[in-house]
Amino acid sequence: MEYKYVESAPIKATDQDPFESMMARFDVAADLLKLEPGIYQYLKTPMRQIIVAIPIQMDDGNIEVFEGYRVIHNDVRGPSKGGIRYSPHVNLSEIKALAAWMTWKCAVVNIPFGGAKGGVKCDPKMLTMVELEKITRRYTANLLEVFGPDRDVPAPDVNTNEQVMGWIMDTYSMHVRHTETAVVTGKPTFLGGSQGRVEATGKGVVMVTSSLMEKMGMNPKDTRIVVQGFGNVGSIASKEFEAIGCKVIAISDVSGAYYNAKGIDIKKAIAYRDAYGGVLENFDAGDKITNDELLELDCEVLAPCALEDQITSKNAGKIKAKIIAEGANGPTTAKADPILAERGIAVIPDILCNAGGVTVSYFEWVQDRMGYFWTKDDVFNRLNRILTEAFEAVRATSEKYDVNMRIGAYILAIDRVAKTLKIRGIYG
Ligand code: NAD
Repeated sequence: MEYKYVESAPIKATDQDPFESMMARFDVAADLLKLEPGIYQYLKTPMRQIIVAIPIQMDDGNIEVFEGYRVIHNDVRGPSKGGIRYSPHVNLSEIKALAAWMTWKCAVVNIPFGGAKGGVKCDPKMLTMVELEKITRRYTANLLEVFGPDRDVPAPDVNTNEQVMGWIMDTYSMHVRHTETAVVTGKPTFLGGSQGRVEATGKGVVMVTSSLMEKMGMNPKDTRIVVQGFGNVGSIASKEFEAIGCKVIAISDVSGAYYNAKGIDIKKAIAYRDAYGGVLENFDAGDKITNDELLELDCEVLAPCALEDQITSKNAGKIKAKIIAEGANGPTTAKADPILAERGIAVIPDILCNAGGVTVSYFEWVQDRMGYFWTKDDVFNRLNRILTEAFEAVRATSEKYDVNMRIGAYILAIDRVAKTLKIRGIYG
């Protein structure tokens, strides 16, 4: 089996780190909500931060010790939920930020989950499948009392996939002495996965963006789309934008960016990518441009669906899109937010825009617990209802507080978590 390796973005000293970026938005929202200092402290502080040693006998017989992390940011609204990433750049600050983002994201779409994130500091491209399986199983065994369908439910993230989820599910099941599919999401359908999970995030990006386009009176036929990243999120979003009648004029991936003013045939681009090792290298249905040029193209919608920290204070002043649809997590730095707001660019924040993924993960967990599985149509209809409600709630909150959608989404999420916390009360 081929193992897909994706470089996760290293934290840059010169840029805000993800935790700072998250906190910058959290602070603005908490201030507007007039959050009491005690509640502020409570919501800011991750509930648990766990570091585990993962000793593995490598294929050559030597023993190596890897470091694994799991941060539970908050679980007042339900079991914590969040992915696991394998990368040499994984560190506690990044995991803490991503765990908090999960709390806010689950609250924005109003699903009964808290937020968590995990990772193992390792270089998957240097590891064999046997070594990866050992790392995954030992990481799971070390966190046995943390994970659980009612406690903490992991999912795939950078460099982890349905095979890794299968190993986690199996290891956990062996220890609890019964098959427990609901302990992880992102599994293959024959192992308790949900229909539509693969498409969920990209489809969700387009569901939410088209709601905003409608509010802004934009006709899909006159809407030019630029998509950064052509992996799971970016390629599905491109396909869905094309399906609703928009013209995708530029796409990109790690091999470069490709522009065609007449529109790119997305089905062809996906077929090309799949035939040529998963990248668009030498794709000739458009002119090759740089990644910076792509972000600054004249278009109506820019959908960054690749990495963190792509729209910064350096390029925010040059972005020409009317809407930025954040398919990726954290593609815009906190410093870029006010520049975009001043220029009247509507940003659909990541915690709303890419929440289709976690919503269908929630559906997977529900279906596993019922032992009854829905059709793809059922999944997408329910997804559309949840995302439409979330979009309307974010818009209403933004209007009430006279803020942009990012701060509106944070206010909505923090308020929902704080209300739950207050009604439950503080134990102790
Ligand atoms: P992926 O690995 O499938 O795709 C990533 C894409 O980004 C690839 O096409 C890669 O070539 C491209 N890329 C890498 N470096 C690039 C660069 N410098 N310039 C342009 N493109 C570059 O990952 P994915 O699952 O599509 O996730 C993308 C983003 O969406 C991440 O931020 C992820 O956290 C976020 N996200 C994903 C999901 C999901 O369900 N997959 C859910 C929520 C958020």
